Amino acid sequence: MKYEHASDLQERMENIVRTLGMSHIDVARVKCFRSFGSSTKRTIARCHTIGKLMQKAMDVKAHYTIEFLERFERMSKAEQDKVIIHELMHIPKTFGGGFRQHDYVCEDNVELLHKQFMSLTSQDSRSLPRWFT
Ligand SMILES: [Zn+2]
Repeated sequence: MKYEHASDLQERMENIVRTLGMSHIDVARVKCFRSFGSSTKRTIARCHTIGKLMQKAMDVKAHYTIEFLERFERMSKAEQDKVIIHELMHIPKTFGGGFRQHDYVCEDNVELLHKQFMSLTSQDSRSLPRWFT
């Protein structure tokens, strides 16, 4: 496996967090990486964290990593945004090193937030001066 920090995805992730007002997410402690050479062909992305005991043992706060696998690159931009939203939704309000499960992180809730994200970002461009659009 090879991992590369993905600064472009980091920026998109931070923008989604800001736009949707996910104030419980400390983006300084969420890092986006691309991975290459995974044998799991069906996985698009996954969210990682350090458990509570390891945080205590290492004397660090909770951190999260979102790993984007090669399949992600072949998706449309809108589908990619949904994947980013999906992974962000796994981060609980406590930001403590656990995960929210797929009963909450489901297609309906992802769609809902994605719609909200789309309308908030298109409103932004409408409010820009005409010469800018
Ligand atoms: Zn998931």
